[in-house]
Amino acid sequence: MIIEELYKLYKSAKSVCTDTRQLKSGDIYFALKGENFDGNAFAKSALDKGASYCVVDDEGIANSSDKFILVKNSLKTLQKLANYHRNTFSFPIIGLTGSNGKTTTKELIYAVLSSKYKVKATKGNLNNHIGVPLTLLSFDNNLDFGIVEMGANHQKEIAFLSSISEPDYGLITNFGKAHLEGFGGVEGVIKGKSELYDYLIANKKTVFLNSDDEKQIQQIHNYAKISTFGSKKTNDCQVSFQSANPFVQLSYNDVLIKSHLIGKYNFSNIAVAIAIGAFFNIEPNYIKASIESYKPNNNRSEIRRIGTNKFILDAYNANPTSMLAALQNFKQLKADKKYVFLGDMFELGASAKEEHQTIASYAETNFNANVYLIGENFFKTKTEERTYKYESFEDFKSGFEANSLRNATILIKGSRGMALERILELF
Ligand code: ATP
Ligand code: MG
Repeated sequence: MIIEELYKLYKSAKSVCTDTRQLKSGDIYFALKGENFDGNAFAKSALDKGASYCVVDDEGIANSSDKFILVKNSLKTLQKLANYHRNTFSFPIIGLTGSNGKTTTKELIYAVLSSKYKVKATKGNLNNHIGVPLTLLSFDNNLDFGIVEMGANHQKEIAFLSSISEPDYGLITNFGKAHLEGFGGVEGVIKGKSELYDYLIANKKTVFLNSDDEKQIQQIHNYAKISTFGSKKTNDCQVSFQSANPFVQLSYNDVLIKSHLIGKYNFSNIAVAIAIGAFFNIEPNYIKASIESYKPNNNRSEIRRIGTNKFILDAYNANPTSMLAALQNFKQLKADKKYVFLGDMFELGASAKEEHQTIASYAETNFNANVYLIGENFFKTKTEERTYKYESFEDFKSGFEANSLRNATILIKGSRGMALERILELF
């Protein structure tokens, strides 16, 4: 079937679905092949649940219903459909990528822009080759802005996601040590993430550039269209860091903004949201109110209180850059009894041993908290003089007497697979 015809079906269906458990009556179901499942096997049940049509790529089942649309590759068809839809938009798309802080930044931009405009953004973390098309297909034509988070763990992925979402504006939160395995080291990360800049520059679109970030400036050519933000007066938008005790405070246009985000590392995430708000003519007081009312509730730098203990729950994910940023932030935090629970960082490939050792050593020397290291990689790290305790995850519950902790400030951070938010259940 040609894409125009499929698009007509999509327009009358209004939404698409790739998971029969979430299917709503009338949806078009796309049968995608995953690592463990083949969506074609669920196409029949999608129809039973009320799907209007099913896009399938298994010839064997194609004839069993006239509601089955046989294509060569369902995933590619979904991506093409999303790009076709994207080209019907009269509103701009803001695309963002980076190693850390994408979702947080996306939510902040959303908070700021929606104080004046009709905006939709990526839901949760739907930022990959399936999530980006689904995000675009969730946008109606009556919006003022669409915000698209793009994630990647290997080269050419951001280039591809940019070609589907065709952003008019874009930014990279930062280049860090994340997904080193797939990108092939830090240089690989810079190259891979910069594919967004390459797209924007080649298509004469605008980059929001953090002028305090040297690594980013190096990726920008002279002929790029840029709007800068940062601490210098010469920026299009001047935003200055004030403090992080523990929440980040910053000033913009002589207005003091008190965020509910902890950690100095969140400054640049907030700063770009302010810069985008200013660029699109949102009044400073609206920007201030939007940032101040944003409270993370997604395991990302979230503050929780249980009994007399205070938790900084940063268990959503971790990599060497974000881990170090979290530790540096925690170190300067004023509190009496400090505890840190760190879980293994995944996807580091050959650097895993060294990176875990660097973090373990940092947490050991001149660090003012008790540290628990959890996971196979941390378990293998060597210490000069072990001033902290560590446990492997299996032993974790029995090894740590959570009940005895009172009036403590506790940082929890680890890769998603470690699911360290489970620590809270011990308290
Ligand atoms: P993912 O790759 O999973 O989509 P993400 O880039 O969307 O991640 P967030 O979910 O916003 O990132 O944040 C995850 C964690 O990264 C935060 O809880 C925080 O610890 C850390 N982080 C956020 N911003 C930065 C930053 N600018 N520098 C370093 N670490 C950061
Ligand atoms: Mg994310």
